[in-house]
Parts: sequence; C-alpha cells; structure tokens
Amino acid sequence: MTTKQPATLLIHPERAVPGGFRSLVPGTERASTVLFENVSKWKNRSGFDESIYTYGTSGTPTTRDLQNRLAEWEGGFATVLFPSGLAAVAYAFLPFVAPGDHVLIPANVYDPVKTLANGLLKRMNVTVEQYDPLVGAGIAAQIKPNTRLVWVETPGSITMEVSDLPAIAAAAHAAGALVAIDNTYSAGWYLRAFELGADISVHALTKYPAGHSDLVMGAITARDEATWKRVKDMALQTGQCCAPDDIYLVLRGLPTMPLRIRHVERVTTDIARWIRTRPEVKLVLHPALPDCPGHDVWKRDFTGSTGVFSFVLHDQYGADAAARFIEALEFFGIGASWGGIGSLALTYDLAKSRTRWPHQGALIRLNIGLEDERDLKADLERGFAALTM
Ligand SMILES: *Cc1c(COP(=O)(O)O)cnc(C)c1O
Repeated sequence: MTTKQPATLLIHPERAVPGGFRSLVPGTERASTVLFENVSKWKNRSGFDESIYTYGTSGTPTTRDLQNRLAEWEGGFATVLFPSGLAAVAYAFLPFVAPGDHVLIPANVYDPVKTLANGLLKRMNVTVEQYDPLVGAGIAAQIKPNTRLVWVETPGSITMEVSDLPAIAAAAHAAGALVAIDNTYSAGWYLRAFELGADISVHALTKYPAGHSDLVMGAITARDEATWKRVKDMALQTGQCCAPDDIYLVLRGLPTMPLRIRHVERVTTDIARWIRTRPEVKLVLHPALPDCPGHDVWKRDFTGSTGVFSFVLHDQYGADAAARFIEALEFFGIGASWGGIGSLALTYDLAKSRTRWPHQGALIRLNIGLEDERDLKADLERGFAALTM
C-alpha cells in the first residue's frame, strides 16, 4: 500500500465507512468535483444524462432525489431545480423566447413577472402582453403568429381569479404556443397541470414543499423530454443549481406537505367563511367561495384550496384602516411569501398594479399558518376592532 502523510490521509483515508445503511431519511450529498472511475467515463460525460453525475452544478444524488420526487408528484417527465421560485419563473421563459417573439401573461400575475417582462425580456426584444385572467377561450384573439408562450397563474396572486387552464391551453396549442403555469398555489396537488393542458409547471418550493419558512427554491417540471431538455440546457449553460443542504430541507418538508396543506385548507376555509359574515367586509376572494371570480372553474378543475386568500373591505375603509387592521394583529406577521409555518397579513394598493380593478375598498391578503385556529380568529377580531378606531 502507498504510504501517506497525515495531510493526505485527511483526504484519502484508509478505513472505509461501512455501506448498507438504510433509514427513512434521504442522505445529503455535497459536491463540487465529482470523481470518475476512468478517463473514458470522464470523456463521455453529459450534463443531460441524469443517470450519472458530472459536477456539482449538474447535481448530486440529493438533487436527483428531489427532482425525481417532484416529477413523480406532478406526473411530468422530469424536473430542474432553481435557487428561487422567481429563478424558476425566469427559466420557464428564457429557453423558449428569441428576439421578436411575443408572450402572454395574465394581468393578475405574481408581480415580479411584470418586472421580468419590462426588464430582461424587453431588452431581449420579446413583447409581453397582458390578458384578462378570466378570458378563457377568448385568449385566442390575443395570440399572434409569433406568440411562443402563454403564462398562466391560477388562482392569480392577490386577487385570486381562477383561470380556465384547459381553454387557454387549447387556444395556445392550436397556435403552436407553449403553456406554462405557475402552480405554486396548489403545490401541484389540487391542480393537475399536465392533465389540464400545461406543458411546463413552475413552483416556488419556498412555499408548501419546503413549508418551514427557512429557504427559497424553485422548480420547473416539464411534460415531455424535449421541453425538459430546453430548460435543462439553459440551466446548464448558466450554472443554475441549488445547495444540497437546502435541497435536503425540501426533502424533509415533502412528506408532511399533504398533512400541512389539508390542515391549512380546513382552517383557511373556516376563517374565510367567517370573514364573509363580517359587516366590514365587501367580498372574500377565496377560490372555494362564490365571491371569487372563476369559482366555477375552480370547482371543475381543482380538488381543493390552500392557505392564501384575500378580502376587500367596504368602501369606507381605506389604506389607513387596512394598515390599522394588520398592525393590530399579534400572530399574523407583516411579510412576503406564504406556505410556511406562520400566518401573514399584507395589504396591496391595487390601483397601481391592476389595469382593471373595480373595487374601491382596501384589500387584505392573509396566509394562514399552523397556529391554533382559535388564536387566529381572536387575532382577526382585534384587526376588525381596529378598523373603526
Ligand atoms: C412566492 C412565489 C414565487 C416566487 O418564489 P420565491 O421562491 O419567493 O422566489 C413565484 N410565484 C408565486 C405565485 C409565488 O407565490
């Protein structure tokens, strides 16, 4: 045996760790360098071959484990991970557009998508046009010969309109355009994106999959191999990857996700129904409640609802009243994101971000967390009391 100096022994130990270990918990494999068995395997490596490992940026077994579970969960061909939900959103556009192309996004889209549209996409000479999220099959009128992609987010951020994904997908496909959906709201569970016509499903894993408010990550799952390859290619070209330690935390969150979502669904629906009875409230925008635009589509296409919804106060309550409501809350934090452990409340100025928003009163968006429902209701009572102070 070759004799080794102590510093070499630290890198090439003599005693092997015993194999054959099994537990219910996946391991965490970290790497920059991946070692190859021989020169031929090194020379023949490909970042697209997910049955081998080539380098840290193209993933370790921890990466593959999460990719596989997400692809199976949603019934897609394969998944690519990104370091945030927003990065996943951006990489659902970038591989599919070129200068001169046209894409459609809903008017109620997650706001940073508009920033991407007015920034990088505009600089690439890609035209981004907004559509009414309730347009349904009528979207055909806005599809042009150079439309490459139709973006769907349902229910839409903040105002919660439920879009007719099958109708939009049929119109887009008839014109040869791809359909990508931001499926974060339903966590890929309550809306079966691929069965309803999407080609690409995007998730902020930050929300329910991670579930504990301690990381940001995103994923793109593609319906078929060709679409996956375009996304993977762009990810490889630009070195998009996630740290295995963060990936492990998502793997740790996934097994409890269905339980967490079911719990939050029940509590959220209860609270939304109770808020609907409050005299201060004009309408409740929760997809399972009839006030919500697209409620019938929700009943047809979704099998459940999750923990984020909004409500609109009567006209006499403006932005100051909404701020008083939120600041009177003890358990609802003031902060972005959702799907984690704690309840959150925010108010939005929709006059700025919506081209068509018919309501005067202030809107409050709630994320229901994992606190006891009785404490959350008592907290919201404090909010309502503060409206008239
Ligand atoms: C949070 C969110 C994102 C972005 O996810 P991050 O991980 O926070 O970047 C994208 N789309 C929707 C609908 C979201 O709610």
